[in-house]
Amino acid sequence: MAKKGEARENITLVCTVCKEENYRKEKNKRNTPERLEIRKHCPKCNKTTLHREKK
Ligand SMILES: [Zn+2]
Repeated sequence: MAKKGEARENITLVCTVCKEENYRKEKNKRNTPERLEIRKHCPKCNKTTLHREKK
Protein backbone atom coordinates (compact mmCIF):
# COMPACT_ATOMS: atom_id res chain seq x y z
CA MET A 1 0.00 0.00 0.00
CA ALA A 2 1.37 3.38 -1.01
CA LYS A 3 1.76 6.10 1.54
CA LYS A 4 -0.13 9.27 0.82
CA GLY A 5 1.91 12.18 -0.47
CA GLU A 6 4.91 10.01 -1.21
CA ALA A 7 6.68 10.30 -4.56
CA ARG A 8 3.85 12.44 -5.84
CA GLU A 9 4.39 15.45 -8.01
CA ASN A 10 2.09 17.99 -9.62
CA ILE A 11 2.96 18.45 -13.25
CA THR A 12 1.74 20.61 -16.11
CA LEU A 13 1.06 19.12 -19.53
CA VAL A 14 1.99 21.41 -22.39
CA CYS A 15 0.85 21.02 -26.00
CA THR A 16 3.95 20.34 -28.09
CA VAL A 17 2.42 22.15 -31.07
CA CYS A 18 1.29 25.51 -29.63
CA LYS A 19 2.99 25.31 -26.20
CA GLU A 20 -0.27 26.00 -24.41
CA GLU A 21 -0.52 24.67 -20.85
CA ASN A 22 -3.71 22.66 -21.09
CA TYR A 23 -3.68 20.11 -18.30
CA ARG A 24 -2.58 19.68 -14.75
CA LYS A 25 -1.94 16.26 -13.41
CA GLU A 26 -0.57 14.37 -10.47
CA LYS A 27 2.26 12.05 -11.32
CA ASN A 28 3.71 9.24 -9.30
CA LYS A 29 7.44 9.71 -9.57
CA ARG A 30 8.12 6.10 -8.70
CA ASN A 31 5.86 4.65 -11.39
CA THR A 32 6.77 7.25 -14.01
CA PRO A 33 10.30 8.56 -13.50
CA GLU A 34 10.63 9.65 -17.12
CA ARG A 35 9.01 12.70 -18.63
CA LEU A 36 5.34 12.14 -19.34
CA GLU A 37 3.97 12.27 -22.88
CA ILE A 38 0.25 11.89 -23.51
CA ARG A 39 -1.95 12.42 -26.54
CA LYS A 40 -4.75 14.78 -25.53
CA HIS A 41 -7.15 17.20 -27.09
CA CYS A 42 -5.83 20.74 -27.30
CA PRO A 43 -8.56 23.41 -27.36
CA LYS A 44 -6.25 25.89 -29.03
CA CYS A 45 -5.16 23.56 -31.85
CA ASN A 46 -8.69 22.10 -31.84
CA LYS A 47 -7.35 18.60 -32.31
CA THR A 48 -5.56 15.83 -30.48
CA THR A 49 -1.89 16.62 -30.05
CA LEU A 50 1.01 15.30 -28.04
CA HIS A 51 1.26 16.87 -24.61
CA ARG A 52 4.50 16.79 -22.72
CA GLU A 53 5.33 17.34 -19.10
CA LYS A 54 6.62 20.82 -18.47
CA LYS A 55 9.88 20.95 -16.56
ZN1 LIG B 1 -2.05 23.07 -29.03
